[in-house]
Amino acid sequence: MAEECTHNCSTCSSDCASRKAPQYDKPNEKSKIGKIIGVVSGKGGVGKSMVTSLLAVALNRKGYRVGILDADITGPSIPKAFGLKGGIEGDESGLFPARTPGGIDVISLNLLLPDEKSPVIWRGPVIAGTVKQFYTDVIWDNIDYLLIDCPPGTGDVPLTVFQSFKVDGVVIVSSPQELVSMIVAKAANMANMMNIPVLGLVENMSFVRCPDCGKEIRIFGESHIEQVAAEFGFPLLAKMPIDPALSALVDEGHIEWVEKDPLTEAAESIVAALS
Ligand code: ADP
Repeated sequence: MAEECTHNCSTCSSDCASRKAPQYDKPNEKSKIGKIIGVVSGKGGVGKSMVTSLLAVALNRKGYRVGILDADITGPSIPKAFGLKGGIEGDESGLFPARTPGGIDVISLNLLLPDEKSPVIWRGPVIAGTVKQFYTDVIWDNIDYLLIDCPPGTGDVPLTVFQSFKVDGVVIVSSPQELVSMIVAKAANMANMMNIPVLGLVENMSFVRCPDCGKEIRIFGESHIEQVAAEFGFPLLAKMPIDPALSALVDEGHIEWVEKDPLTEAAESIVAALS
Protein backbone atom coordinates (compact mmCIF):
# COMPACT_ATOMS: atom_id res chain seq x y z
CA MET A 1 0.00 0.00 0.00
CA ALA A 2 1.42 3.42 -0.93
CA GLU A 3 2.31 5.72 1.97
CA GLU A 4 0.01 8.45 0.77
CA CYS A 5 -2.98 6.11 0.59
CA THR A 6 -6.02 7.68 2.31
CA HIS A 7 -8.00 4.40 2.37
CA ASN A 8 -10.64 5.95 0.19
CA CYS A 9 -10.15 5.14 -3.50
CA SER A 10 -12.89 7.56 -4.51
CA THR A 11 -10.88 10.58 -3.30
CA CYS A 12 -7.30 9.28 -3.34
CA SER A 13 -5.19 9.33 -6.50
CA SER A 14 -2.48 7.03 -5.17
CA ASP A 15 -1.95 4.00 -7.41
CA CYS A 16 -1.52 1.43 -4.69
CA ALA A 17 -2.21 -2.32 -4.43
CA SER A 18 -5.60 -1.81 -2.81
CA ARG A 19 -6.82 -0.17 -6.02
CA LYS A 20 -6.37 -3.41 -7.96
CA ALA A 21 -9.65 -5.14 -8.79
CA PRO A 22 -10.55 -7.43 -5.89
CA GLN A 23 -10.77 -11.17 -6.51
CA TYR A 24 -14.25 -12.24 -5.43
CA ASP A 25 -15.30 -15.83 -4.74
CA LYS A 26 -17.48 -17.41 -7.38
CA PRO A 27 -20.98 -18.38 -6.28
CA ASN A 28 -22.23 -21.93 -6.93
CA GLU A 29 -22.56 -22.40 -10.69
CA LYS A 30 -26.30 -23.00 -10.32
CA SER A 31 -26.78 -19.78 -8.34
CA LYS A 32 -28.22 -16.63 -9.81
CA ILE A 33 -27.87 -13.66 -7.48
CA GLY A 34 -28.90 -10.08 -8.28
CA LYS A 35 -27.81 -7.62 -5.59
CA ILE A 36 -25.98 -8.44 -2.37
CA ILE A 37 -26.69 -6.30 0.70
CA GLY A 38 -24.68 -6.54 3.93
CA VAL A 39 -26.47 -5.68 7.16
CA VAL A 40 -23.93 -4.59 9.78
CA SER A 41 -23.82 -3.10 13.27
CA GLY A 42 -21.17 -1.83 15.65
CA LYS A 43 -22.22 -4.08 18.50
CA GLY A 44 -24.56 -6.94 19.26
CA GLY A 45 -28.14 -6.71 20.43
CA VAL A 46 -29.11 -3.57 18.52
CA GLY A 47 -31.54 -5.48 16.30
CA LYS A 48 -29.44 -6.25 13.22
CA SER A 49 -31.13 -9.63 12.71
CA MET A 50 -34.52 -8.00 13.25
CA VAL A 51 -33.69 -5.43 10.55
CA THR A 52 -32.40 -8.16 8.20
CA SER A 53 -35.61 -10.16 8.70
CA LEU A 54 -37.96 -7.18 8.25
CA LEU A 55 -36.08 -5.96 5.17
CA ALA A 56 -36.32 -9.46 3.69
CA VAL A 57 -40.06 -9.57 4.39
CA ALA A 58 -40.58 -6.10 2.89
CA LEU A 59 -38.64 -6.98 -0.29
CA ASN A 60 -40.42 -10.32 -0.57
CA ARG A 61 -43.80 -8.59 -0.31
CA LYS A 62 -42.80 -6.37 -3.20
CA GLY A 63 -42.49 -9.50 -5.31
CA TYR A 64 -38.72 -9.93 -5.26
CA ARG A 65 -36.99 -13.27 -4.67
CA VAL A 66 -35.06 -12.80 -1.44
CA GLY A 67 -32.35 -14.85 0.26
CA ILE A 68 -30.80 -14.45 3.70
CA LEU A 69 -27.26 -15.65 4.33
CA ASP A 70 -26.89 -15.78 8.11
CA ALA A 71 -23.22 -14.96 8.60
CA ASP A 72 -23.67 -14.49 12.35
CA ILE A 73 -22.28 -17.99 12.85
CA THR A 74 -21.91 -17.96 16.63
CA GLY A 75 -25.19 -16.14 17.30
CA PRO A 76 -27.54 -17.15 14.51
CA SER A 77 -31.07 -15.85 15.05
CA ILE A 78 -32.59 -15.79 11.56
CA PRO A 79 -34.02 -19.36 11.51
CA LYS A 80 -35.86 -18.74 14.78
CA ALA A 81 -37.48 -15.53 13.50
CA PHE A 82 -38.89 -17.42 10.51
CA GLY A 83 -39.75 -20.62 12.42
CA LEU A 84 -37.23 -22.71 10.45
CA LYS A 85 -35.80 -25.90 11.88
CA GLY A 86 -32.88 -28.01 10.63
CA GLY A 87 -32.86 -30.35 7.67
CA ILE A 88 -30.91 -28.69 4.89
CA GLU A 89 -30.66 -30.96 1.87
CA GLY A 90 -28.14 -31.09 -0.90
CA ASP A 91 -26.85 -33.07 -3.83
CA GLU A 92 -23.58 -33.24 -5.73
CA SER A 93 -24.18 -29.77 -7.15
CA GLY A 94 -24.64 -28.01 -3.80
CA LEU A 95 -26.78 -27.27 -0.77
CA PHE A 96 -30.42 -26.16 -0.99
CA PRO A 97 -31.33 -23.37 1.41
CA ALA A 98 -34.38 -23.70 3.66
CA ARG A 99 -37.46 -21.87 2.42
CA THR A 100 -39.77 -19.87 4.71
CA PRO A 101 -43.56 -20.18 4.31
CA GLY A 102 -43.50 -16.83 2.49
CA GLY A 103 -40.81 -18.03 0.06
CA ILE A 104 -37.60 -16.47 1.44
CA ASP A 105 -34.53 -18.71 1.10
CA VAL A 106 -32.36 -18.97 4.23
CA ILE A 107 -29.03 -20.55 5.06
CA SER A 108 -27.74 -20.54 8.61
CA LEU A 109 -25.42 -22.77 10.58
CA ASN A 110 -28.28 -23.49 12.99
CA LEU A 111 -30.04 -25.30 10.14
CA LEU A 112 -27.06 -27.62 9.73
CA LEU A 113 -26.38 -28.39 13.40
CA PRO A 114 -27.89 -31.61 14.81
CA ASP A 115 -29.10 -29.58 17.78
CA GLU A 116 -29.73 -25.82 17.51
CA LYS A 117 -28.60 -25.41 21.13
CA SER A 118 -25.08 -26.72 20.35
CA PRO A 119 -22.56 -23.92 20.83
CA VAL A 120 -20.24 -23.17 17.93
CA ILE A 121 -16.77 -23.16 19.47
CA TRP A 122 -14.72 -22.55 16.38
CA ARG A 123 -11.75 -20.35 15.64
CA GLY A 124 -12.10 -17.32 13.37
CA PRO A 125 -10.74 -18.87 10.13
CA VAL A 126 -13.13 -21.85 10.40
CA ILE A 127 -16.06 -19.50 10.92
CA ALA A 128 -14.99 -17.32 8.00
CA GLY A 129 -14.58 -20.46 5.84
CA THR A 130 -18.13 -21.54 6.67
CA VAL A 131 -19.50 -18.15 5.63
CA LYS A 132 -17.66 -18.47 2.32
CA GLN A 133 -19.20 -21.91 1.78
CA PHE A 134 -22.65 -20.44 2.37
CA TYR A 135 -21.93 -18.43 -0.76
CA THR A 136 -19.94 -20.88 -2.88
CA ASP A 137 -21.72 -24.16 -2.05
CA VAL A 138 -25.33 -23.06 -1.59
CA ILE A 139 -27.59 -22.91 -4.62
CA TRP A 140 -29.15 -19.44 -4.51
CA ASP A 141 -31.94 -19.91 -6.99
CA ASN A 142 -32.81 -16.76 -8.94
CA ILE A 143 -32.40 -14.42 -5.99
CA ASP A 144 -32.99 -10.70 -6.62
CA TYR A 145 -31.67 -9.57 -3.21
CA LEU A 146 -29.33 -11.60 -1.02
CA LEU A 147 -29.18 -10.11 2.48
CA ILE A 148 -26.17 -10.98 4.59
CA ASP A 149 -26.68 -10.78 8.34
CA CYS A 150 -23.10 -10.03 9.43
CA PRO A 151 -21.90 -10.54 12.99
CA PRO A 152 -21.44 -7.26 14.91
CA GLY A 153 -18.25 -5.25 14.67
CA THR A 154 -15.47 -5.20 12.14
CA GLY A 155 -13.90 -8.62 12.76
CA ASP A 156 -12.96 -11.60 10.65
CA VAL A 157 -16.38 -12.40 9.23
CA PRO A 158 -17.49 -8.94 8.04
CA LEU A 159 -14.03 -8.62 6.48
CA THR A 160 -14.44 -11.98 4.74
CA VAL A 161 -17.89 -10.99 3.50
CA PHE A 162 -16.66 -7.67 2.11
CA GLN A 163 -13.53 -9.14 0.54
CA SER A 164 -14.98 -12.38 -0.83
CA PHE A 165 -18.45 -11.46 -2.07
CA LYS A 166 -19.31 -8.70 -4.46
CA VAL A 167 -21.39 -6.71 -1.97
CA ASP A 168 -23.45 -3.96 -3.62
CA GLY A 169 -24.12 -1.97 -0.46
CA VAL A 170 -24.39 -2.05 3.31
CA VAL A 171 -27.09 -1.04 5.73
CA ILE A 172 -25.81 0.09 9.14
CA VAL A 173 -28.02 -0.64 12.15
CA SER A 174 -27.58 1.27 15.41
CA SER A 175 -29.49 2.14 18.55
CA PRO A 176 -29.72 5.61 20.15
CA GLN A 177 -26.61 6.20 22.25
CA GLU A 178 -23.79 8.65 22.71
CA LEU A 179 -21.25 6.52 20.86
CA VAL A 180 -23.36 6.20 17.73
CA SER A 181 -21.19 8.55 15.70
CA MET A 182 -18.05 6.52 16.40
CA ILE A 183 -19.83 3.22 15.79
CA VAL A 184 -21.25 4.40 12.47
CA ALA A 185 -17.82 5.81 11.54
CA LYS A 186 -16.13 2.43 12.11
CA ALA A 187 -18.66 0.55 9.96
CA ALA A 188 -18.64 3.27 7.32
CA ASN A 189 -14.84 3.36 7.17
CA MET A 190 -14.70 -0.39 6.72
CA ALA A 191 -17.19 -0.25 3.85
CA ASN A 192 -15.30 2.70 2.39
CA MET A 193 -11.97 0.86 2.49
CA MET A 194 -13.60 -1.96 0.53
CA ASN A 195 -15.25 0.50 -1.88
CA ILE A 196 -18.75 -0.59 -0.90
CA PRO A 197 -21.47 2.07 -0.80
CA VAL A 198 -23.40 2.66 2.42
CA LEU A 199 -27.08 2.43 1.48
CA GLY A 200 -28.18 4.07 4.71
CA LEU A 201 -28.73 3.91 8.45
CA VAL A 202 -31.51 2.26 10.41
CA GLU A 203 -31.94 3.38 13.99
CA ASN A 204 -33.62 0.64 15.99
CA MET A 205 -35.14 0.93 19.46
CA SER A 206 -35.50 4.69 18.91
CA PHE A 207 -38.43 4.95 21.32
CA VAL A 208 -41.29 3.03 22.81
CA ARG A 209 -44.85 4.23 22.47
CA CYS A 210 -46.89 4.29 25.68
CA PRO A 211 -49.85 1.97 25.06
CA ASP A 212 -52.09 4.22 27.22
CA CYS A 213 -51.35 7.78 26.11
CA GLY A 214 -49.42 7.21 22.87
CA LYS A 215 -46.45 9.32 24.08
CA GLU A 216 -43.01 8.39 22.69
CA ILE A 217 -40.63 7.43 25.53
CA ARG A 218 -36.93 7.54 24.66
CA ILE A 219 -35.51 4.75 26.79
CA PHE A 220 -31.94 5.12 25.52
CA GLY A 221 -31.97 8.93 25.54
CA GLU A 222 -32.29 11.42 22.72
CA SER A 223 -31.46 10.21 19.26
CA HIS A 224 -28.59 11.82 17.35
CA ILE A 225 -29.12 9.77 14.23
CA GLU A 226 -30.26 12.67 12.04
CA GLN A 227 -27.03 14.59 12.77
CA VAL A 228 -24.93 11.46 12.22
CA ALA A 229 -26.68 10.72 8.92
CA ALA A 230 -26.10 14.33 7.81
CA GLU A 231 -22.47 14.28 9.00
CA PHE A 232 -21.67 11.21 6.90
CA GLY A 233 -24.03 12.03 4.05
CA PHE A 234 -25.93 8.73 4.44
CA PRO A 235 -29.70 8.40 4.01
CA LEU A 236 -31.61 7.74 7.23
CA LEU A 237 -33.67 4.77 6.10
CA ALA A 238 -35.84 4.31 9.20
CA LYS A 239 -36.25 4.95 12.91
CA MET A 240 -37.86 1.85 14.39
CA PRO A 241 -39.56 1.85 17.79
CA ILE A 242 -39.24 -0.92 20.36
CA ASP A 243 -42.40 -2.85 19.61
CA PRO A 244 -43.29 -5.84 21.82
CA ALA A 245 -45.41 -7.19 18.95
CA LEU A 246 -42.24 -7.51 16.82
CA SER A 247 -40.28 -9.43 19.45
CA ALA A 248 -43.32 -11.67 20.03
CA LEU A 249 -43.44 -12.46 16.29
CA VAL A 250 -39.72 -13.34 16.36
CA ASP A 251 -40.17 -15.53 19.43
CA GLU A 252 -43.06 -17.37 17.77
CA GLY A 253 -41.16 -17.77 14.50
CA HIS A 254 -43.75 -15.72 12.63
CA ILE A 255 -41.94 -12.56 11.62
CA GLU A 256 -43.54 -12.93 8.17
CA TRP A 257 -46.92 -12.26 9.78
CA VAL A 258 -45.93 -8.67 10.62
CA GLU A 259 -48.91 -6.51 9.65
CA LYS A 260 -47.22 -3.19 8.99
CA ASP A 261 -43.58 -3.82 8.18
CA PRO A 262 -41.68 -0.79 9.58
CA LEU A 263 -39.04 -1.18 6.87
CA THR A 264 -41.34 -1.03 3.85
CA GLU A 265 -40.16 2.44 2.83
CA ALA A 266 -36.56 1.60 3.66
CA ALA A 267 -36.79 -1.37 1.28
CA GLU A 268 -38.16 0.93 -1.44
CA SER A 269 -35.24 3.34 -0.94
CA ILE A 270 -32.74 0.48 -1.14
CA VAL A 271 -34.29 -0.88 -4.34
CA ALA A 272 -34.15 2.61 -5.84
CA ALA A 273 -30.53 3.15 -4.73
CA LEU A 274 -29.39 -0.14 -6.26
CA SER A 275 -31.25 0.12 -9.57
P1 ADP B 1 -28.62 -8.33 16.89
O1 ADP B 1 -28.79 -9.10 15.61
O2 ADP B 1 -28.17 -6.92 16.65
O3 ADP B 1 -27.78 -9.02 17.92
P2 ADP B 1 -31.40 -8.98 17.33
O4 ADP B 1 -32.05 -8.60 16.05
O5 ADP B 1 -31.17 -10.44 17.58
O6 ADP B 1 -30.06 -8.16 17.56
O7 ADP B 1 -32.28 -8.35 18.49
C1 ADP B 1 -31.99 -8.59 19.87
C2 ADP B 1 -33.32 -8.85 20.61
O8 ADP B 1 -34.11 -7.67 20.59
C3 ADP B 1 -34.16 -9.93 19.96
O9 ADP B 1 -34.82 -10.66 20.98
C4 ADP B 1 -35.17 -9.17 19.10
O10 ADP B 1 -36.39 -9.88 18.94
C5 ADP B 1 -35.37 -7.91 19.97
N1 ADP B 1 -35.66 -6.70 19.15
C6 ADP B 1 -34.89 -6.16 18.19
N2 ADP B 1 -35.46 -5.05 17.69
C7 ADP B 1 -36.65 -4.90 18.32
C8 ADP B 1 -37.71 -3.94 18.22
N3 ADP B 1 -37.65 -2.90 17.39
N4 ADP B 1 -38.79 -4.11 19.03
C9 ADP B 1 -38.84 -5.15 19.91
N5 ADP B 1 -37.87 -6.07 20.06
C10 ADP B 1 -36.78 -5.96 19.27
